[in-house]
Amino acid sequence: MSQETIFTKIINREIPADIVYEDDKALAFKDISPQAPFHVLVIPKLPIATINDVNEENAHLVGHLHLVAAKLAKEHGFAEDGYRVVMNCNNDGGQTVYHIHLHVLAGLEMGWPPY
Ligand code: IMP
Repeated sequence: MSQETIFTKIINREIPADIVYEDDKALAFKDISPQAPFHVLVIPKLPIATINDVNEENAHLVGHLHLVAAKLAKEHGFAEDGYRVVMNCNNDGGQTVYHIHLHVLAGLEMGWPPY
């Protein structure tokens, strides 16, 4: 399942976003409603609705998203103190945009569990 969402519009520059990273496979931009001092979303350019839709063909993109997340965390100085990487799935996981994305959150000490 792959449907166009607001994130496709961001990829296509049809709506504005504060883009912090781009390559041929991924895009990262600041979350419009940040939940931490540093909160960016890392998305594949290929629209994959949920982590349930990851398969053998597109799984490499998920690894790539994690590489980008770690790169951004390092570049912004959060590697040592730490940060959180989250992918929500469907209603109970809190997913609201059906184009997979990693949340990269940093800049404060977080708690657990996350609910
Ligand atoms: P989810 O709830 O895990 O699906 O996360 C979706 C995220 O997208 C939320 O944290 C929203 O704040 C964020 N978001 C929604 N629309 C935009 C936008 O236009 N620009 C940047 N972030 C957005």
